[in-house]
Amino acid sequence: MKLLIVEDEESLNKVLVKVLRKLGYATDSAFDGEEAVDLYFENNYDLVILDLNLPKLDGMEVLKAMREDNAELPILILSARSEIQDKIQGLDEGANEYLTKPFHFDELTARVRALLRRNAQTAGTRIEIGDVVLDTAAKTVSVGGNPIALSKKEYGLMAHLMLRKGETVSSQKLIESVL
Ligand code: CA
Repeated sequence: MKLLIVEDEESLNKVLVKVLRKLGYATDSAFDGEEAVDLYFENNYDLVILDLNLPKLDGMEVLKAMREDNAELPILILSARSEIQDKIQGLDEGANEYLTKPFHFDELTARVRALLRRNAQTAGTRIEIGDVVLDTAAKTVSVGGNPIALSKKEYGLMAHLMLRKGETVSSQKLIESVL
């Protein structure tokens, strides 16, 4: 999973990189709007964290450029602009989440996880853990290359757990996932 972090405040950009890399994500950093658009068109990102008040090109313009190119890309706005009009505009322009500064890192990482998960479920993706492979598009699970026969509920359980690798899942949530 590769994330693009667009934030002109260098110290905050650095902290975001540190926190997200610790969670196992690869990151690139952009420090102005033009650099963000350039990096976006040169690379494939799974998610973008986007500040709005940026030098050279406003974050709202960066958002439009990315959204025009890719309707599926998860984009999380992280901005000091806290007016409701800004939030509405950001979401109208296609941002998936709008988090206002100051923010809590735990909330940011939870929203990043949720967005990546949502996208994996809708886009269809392969998740490999050891020799177990889950294909969310085909809704199949194979072990060591051999497909295994699973009921709908068994598949649901497997997908729920594999999409949340490394997280604790409550029995309540597990039950809800297969109802
Ligand atoms: Ca800024």
